Amino acid sequence: MLGRGRVGGTIKQKKSRIFAAMNKEQISESLRQLDAAENIVILGHRNPDGDAIGATLGLAHYLRAKGKNCTVMMPNDFPKFLAWIPGASDILIFEHYPAKAVGLLKSADLVYTLDFNHFSRVGEEMQRALEGLESNFIMIDHHQQPEGYAVVTYSDPSMSSTCEMVYHYIAALGDQELLTKELAQCLYVGIMTDTGSFRFAATTSTTHRIIAHLMDLGAKNDYIHQQVYDTNSESRMALLGTALRNMVVLADRQVAYITLSKEELESGAYKKGDTEGFVNYGLSLEGIVFAVIFIENIGEEYIKISFRSKGSFSVNEFARAHFQGGGHDNAAGGRSEMNMADTIEKFESLLPTYQQQIAESISCE
Ligand code: 5GP
Ligand code: MN
Repeated sequence: MLGRGRVGGTIKQKKSRIFAAMNKEQISESLRQLDAAENIVILGHRNPDGDAIGATLGLAHYLRAKGKNCTVMMPNDFPKFLAWIPGASDILIFEHYPAKAVGLLKSADLVYTLDFNHFSRVGEEMQRALEGLESNFIMIDHHQQPEGYAVVTYSDPSMSSTCEMVYHYIAALGDQELLTKELAQCLYVGIMTDTGSFRFAATTSTTHRIIAHLMDLGAKNDYIHQQVYDTNSESRMALLGTALRNMVVLADRQVAYITLSKEELESGAYKKGDTEGFVNYGLSLEGIVFAVIFIENIGEEYIKISFRSKGSFSVNEFARAHFQGGGHDNAAGGRSEMNMADTIEKFESLLPTYQQQIAESISCE
């Protein structure tokens, strides 16, 4: 999600890097793969966010400008506040058209996986389809611990967003002149959403230089911000009210968590993406370092969990160790197959073990 904000924080070095870390081997292998490929499929992760949609569509604009046949595919629907992004109406949703999607994947010469680094991030059915493919994969991603499925693994967890990496990727292949207004709009969205509008620690001076270039190309910052953040429905605001009333603050532990039950989601006109960003309200409380939201998702047989932290306490490790998830140091997701009460009991029982790490998370160094 990161959509309406992930809170980042542990990158100490803020050196300017005009060119991100793609090595010569990765560049030449990418060029070789692209030369040989005619049909290309570009994938984002399940429950796609602004970064996944922006990066995949941005890359598609670039590859089409290079004369390639491109399909952008997502495992499931994306939120409405991303529907205005140039090219979004052509995205193929695997869940809606599985046979067509599998056919396209099978006939692809090359498959890009963007904003995820693990096949399990696309859901079971699509994961099986990917595992059966003979096509080559190229990964562009900023999460930790990438799987080894790609012929080019461009992975850099220090990056603000996959959209920033797509910009570096195009520059590394020597194609900066193929950047267009449409492409700039796409990449702006993902950088903006994954950096919480340029405020998280992974936002570097280079990120700002790229943003400046994207604006020069025609990305309108105020328009894009409004499309993403000022399109709330009344029912989303009502749901936010419920979420805030449900917030439990464990001040001594510097933890705040929110629960949302299926009934609460169903009581309004719930739409995909409505709960994005809710988790961050916990972190906005003074003294809170670790914030969590537990959501009994409609149509899913498990509780979807989002974890956020400030400082050095790694929610990626916490989610991996206890809730079948992962992500970044300061923004991760996971799941629980238990009911809400048992999930909360498990969560609270884990907190004493992390008390010290949480207490030491924020330093001014
Ligand atoms: P969110 O809480 O917004 O769903 O996700 C926060 C971050 O953690 C995102 O970067 C997302 O890609 C990652 N993430 C969310 N759920 C999972 C999960 O189940 N497994 C892994 N490895 N990463 C996740
Ligand atoms: Mn991302």
